Amino acid sequence: MLSFIVHGGAWDIPDAMLEDHRAGVARALAIGWEVLSGGGSGVEAVEKAIRYLEDDPTFDAGRGSFVNSLGEIELDASIMNGTSFRCGAVAAVQNIRNPISLARLIMDKSEHVLIAGMGAVRFARENGIQQCKSDDLLVGRELQRWKELQGKTTFSTKDAFKGKLPSDTVGAVALDKDGVIAAGTSTGGTPNKYPGRVGDSPMIGCGTYADSAIGGVSCTGWGEAIIKVALSKTIVDRMEVNGGDADEASRFGIDRLKTKADGFGGVIVLNHEGRPAVAFNTPRMARAYRTSEMPDGTVEV
Ligand code: ASP
Repeated sequence: MLSFIVHGGAWDIPDAMLEDHRAGVARALAIGWEVLSGGGSGVEAVEKAIRYLEDDPTFDAGRGSFVNSLGEIELDASIMNGTSFRCGAVAAVQNIRNPISLARLIMDKSEHVLIAGMGAVRFARENGIQQCKSDDLLVGRELQRWKELQGKTTFSTKDAFKGKLPSDTVGAVALDKDGVIAAGTSTGGTPNKYPGRVGDSPMIGCGTYADSAIGGVSCTGWGEAIIKVALSKTIVDRMEVNGGDADEASRFGIDRLKTKADGFGGVIVLNHEGRPAVAFNTPRMARAYRTSEMPDGTVEV
């Protein structure tokens, strides 16, 4: 059984942006599926699909990311192999075009899990990834948003509570031919965030988690709340005791996000057999999935 699921954020996605979100997650699904069906690894499928979404300016990851309160773009990403339990992550890194690939490099070539800021840039350079220009990541839509937000609070809990705050983080989970579950997440964080603020996305067990014996998860939404309930690990732990029921576990996770931390967001989940599930408590969530048993796949916003 092969299985692949991607997301492109959970929030009140406006009608005018629906088509771009749908097209983005559909293309990312096709890219990941091509890797898996060609015999490639789950890690490769997750990295390639997320690279595509980072390059697509529709989403808050890589190019198109939100801008922090100083007018800079700081990126977070993580990736995990659920069989080897190796993982890699970057936090608050600047001028890196594809942070998911840097996270993978840290997973593959470093003894560490999470490297932040200038250290991550240094590790990238030492391993052949050069910094890009700020203009390669910044798009007019986000410059405009940043200008409008100046003088306002850095993060509005109230907006997150309503699911109104833009939340276009991207993520993917794969089950490959060797039974490996891999998961990854990439984001520019939240609009006008405090410099150095790090969300759930690069934190293993919060935004991303994979255990090939149980399942894998990628999250999106209000990072501070997701961290408080260690959402991705909570969902995997739930699948360990509920017979691998991905639907029930994803609903359980979102319920816990709301009741314990008053949070809003969405999750994509695969159980160890590759059964996909999605849950969110925002008005909309962009997602797409396909398994060997569902060759047509599903794209929904
Ligand atoms: N979870 C991300 C963060 O808080 C934001 C998002 O999902 O859009 O950094």
